[in-house]
Amino acid sequence: MRRTQRIGLVIFILLALVLAGPVSLADQGAQRFEVHFLDVGQADCAVILSDGRVMMIDGGEAAGSGLVVTYLRDVLHVSHIDVMVSTHPHDDHAGGLCAVLGEFTVGEVFSPVTEYASEVFDAFLRQVGMRGRSLRVPEAGDSFSLGSAWVQFLTPLRADYPLENDRSLVLRVTYGATSFLFMADAEQGAEEDIVRAGLEKRYELRSDVIKAGHHGWGTSTTPGLLEAVRPKYAVISVGEKNNSYLPFLDVLARLSAVQARIFRTDIMGNVVCFSDGERISFRIEKKDPNLF
Ligand SMILES: [Zn+2]
Repeated sequence: MRRTQRIGLVIFILLALVLAGPVSLADQGAQRFEVHFLDVGQADCAVILSDGRVMMIDGGEAAGSGLVVTYLRDVLHVSHIDVMVSTHPHDDHAGGLCAVLGEFTVGEVFSPVTEYASEVFDAFLRQVGMRGRSLRVPEAGDSFSLGSAWVQFLTPLRADYPLENDRSLVLRVTYGATSFLFMADAEQGAEEDIVRAGLEKRYELRSDVIKAGHHGWGTSTTPGLLEAVRPKYAVISVGEKNNSYLPFLDVLARLSAVQARIFRTDIMGNVVCFSDGERISFRIEKKDPNLF
């Protein structure tokens, strides 16, 4: 190639790059952050996609697990779960994880306990073993990266709570300047300890998005926690026409009092949250009237 041709080629490439403009996060394919709060009825299931990595927090009830597996495989095109978190062993959180483990390979599996007297948990434990994994019990403050997101366990702070719900694994995830708090089924006792740990600067609590604790039950999402977290958005994972009048009106009032915009899976179906590291946006996927 002649010198003039070479110079021409360089100018052409430079011009093409200038015209193409800056590459956005969305254009880079793998660089993205999404949280899918699945409508699994009166249960909990969230899937986080972060730069090609996949984390799952709970899997809903065993009865709804077909929907979860289908969503992971056909909608999110997941083939491997990098991190699975069973926040606590109750059926409405751990139940669906068994079927997910039957379908996908898994990296790490976290749980606050390694044994629990229930058929659902035994089946989950067996399936974890069949994937060649064992349950890992984290300590409060433990953290790891998921793509370019950072995940931190805020609990367990104590082991002697009378309520299993208060032994829930609570996680905070940050992606760029945006932050997400997953409260599992933690209730007032755990919330008070979490707020205290935040005040002691053991970790940061302020978060843009809160997955409200215990499906909107009145003993969770207490004013003290909301004051520390100051969420802009709240997601409540709750079943339509549930028997417990969830979410409680006073929880909705507390969230409104801190001006958090509320998303509910019972009314909206799947709630999907996107972050570009600075801004957060939501998409709701219309509820299928034939499910739940
Ligand atoms: Zn629950």
